[in-house]
Amino acid sequence: MAPTSFQEPTDTHNHDHLVKSTDSQHPANLICTLCEKFYHLGWVAGTGGGTSIRDNDLVYLAPSGVQKELMKPEDIYVLSIAQQKDPKNRIYLRAPPSLKPSQCTPLFMAAFTKRNAGCCIHTHSQWAVLVTLLLETRPLNTNIFEINNIEQIKGFGKGFQKQGNLGYHDTLRIPVIENTPHEEDLTESLETAMDEYPDTYAVLVRRHGLYVWGETVHKAKTQAESLDYLFQLAVEMKKLGIPWLSDIA
Ligand SMILES: [Zn+2]
Repeated sequence: MAPTSFQEPTDTHNHDHLVKSTDSQHPANLICTLCEKFYHLGWVAGTGGGTSIRDNDLVYLAPSGVQKELMKPEDIYVLSIAQQKDPKNRIYLRAPPSLKPSQCTPLFMAAFTKRNAGCCIHTHSQWAVLVTLLLETRPLNTNIFEINNIEQIKGFGKGFQKQGNLGYHDTLRIPVIENTPHEEDLTESLETAMDEYPDTYAVLVRRHGLYVWGETVHKAKTQAESLDYLFQLAVEMKKLGIPWLSDIA
């Protein structure tokens, strides 16, 4: 990733230089490229979902309510983690005129500050939603998606500050939290799920979607793709009457 440490602005208005770069890997450019790809996967349809990237102390965020496949680097918000004192009164280094900050911001910030993530992706994928609906129909364990003995599980790290990836026989566990009318109100339960499952890289939101993060953009994207694959697989397995876990009858 290109170095983007904060520097005194050469432009006088709104630190616009923070989102201007010819480097395709600059966070402001990369968020737009990723969101366009995610739109075509059905992950960010109808302005839902989004992506945020952290580069050291700087966090780059997509705004609220924009068509994610048409987003431009000049639409991106930038904030400094060190400058944040009150989550209810967030300070932005750079804010696009006539747009609103995303309600996902406190959830992305939780991944950056509690897990030292470099990227967090929020999807409204139908497979993620369907999996939470299937879990809802269970008599027990409605708040955890678990799957094992599937090759794609190897796409996940073992956990926060742990080396290596899960193995074929390991069980991948993704906690599920309940949805709220306002996205920002999910923050507390997302943080609680992170505390209860310290090794998780993702949290499902019932009837809503998924938050997934990683140390790097590459890792977050890989895990987002692997999870969507596994959610789709689980839904299809359920239709065929095949259990997700080898030890479930
Ligand atoms: Zn959402």
